[in-house]
Amino acid sequence: MAVLVFSPGYSAPLPGRNRAALSAVGARAGRHSARHLWSRRLVVPSSATGHVFRPDKFRLAFDILLKKGVVSRGDVAAPSKISKRDLLLVHTPAWTRKCLSGRFTAADSARAEMKITRAVIKSHLLHAGGTVKAVELALEGGLGINCGGGSHHARAEGGAGFCLVNDLALAARKAQKERGVKKVMIVDLDVHQGDGTAAVFKGVQPVFTFSMHQSDIYPAKKEVSSLDMDLPRGTGGAAYLRALRRSLPSALDRFKPGLVIYLAGADVCRGDLLGGLALSSEELRRRDAYVAGLCRERKIPLAVTLGGGYRKKAADTARLHAATIRVVLDLHKIKKPA
Ligand SMILES: [Zn+2]
Repeated sequence: MAVLVFSPGYSAPLPGRNRAALSAVGARAGRHSARHLWSRRLVVPSSATGHVFRPDKFRLAFDILLKKGVVSRGDVAAPSKISKRDLLLVHTPAWTRKCLSGRFTAADSARAEMKITRAVIKSHLLHAGGTVKAVELALEGGLGINCGGGSHHARAEGGAGFCLVNDLALAARKAQKERGVKKVMIVDLDVHQGDGTAAVFKGVQPVFTFSMHQSDIYPAKKEVSSLDMDLPRGTGGAAYLRALRRSLPSALDRFKPGLVIYLAGADVCRGDLLGGLALSSEELRRRDAYVAGLCRERKIPLAVTLGGGYRKKAADTARLHAATIRVVLDLHKIKKPA
């Protein structure tokens, strides 16, 4: 049975190929000055594309998995289609309208920190459909992996920080509404706080938002998750994994979710252009194996999304994402405990 979800549309197009145009978007957006636009996430152009977010990393990660024989094309499922009703589970009618019509303002682009074209929103809707599909696969066979997704900064009323549709929140709500899942835990280990997800679910009891992130980076104003673990800049792998062991198992045992949606951000690794933590690639693998192992021991269906990862070369980010998928798949293949 397929466990991996991917679409070639995940990687098209590169946002903000023209940096000058993007700055102009920021300048035109009133209170969002061009300087503001480029300083919020300390955006460092990593390539000729002029944007630190490289959607081509998803295709590159998928190519690595194919090339190494980790998956074959037959193992891969396509994203589910996202309807207006799905979007309204999380987003306001006004933002839903914009997402479906493809008509955005300069201020919308400034808040998202990338120029939102019709092609860009189409791609983001595909990613959201991928997370919905990964959740379906998880509920059917224990594991689903979206080779994309993780738009945790997106809010009910609009995009933010490269995120337009909050796929995590949408897939959680849809599972509750249509699949009878009572309690969902979103485990967000991206280096940035899952502020959009926390805002969507603030005070909502059947969804537990767990976010472990670096304290002194974007978003400047943090939201309150069900459990926040703030880590100082420079935290290395050993301290990171200790903090995770101290907090996640007890949260799972107290909350007892019927589904975990995991954001396995790779921007916690040393050398990331936006993050300031210092995990090695081996420690990232250990983290991902640990989370997947906790869910497996407790027989909790697990849906994985990739999220952040911003290295100078998109191919290096893709290697980290591919390693996450590989380690989770390997663990799933081991015979389940009786
Ligand atoms: Zn991030």
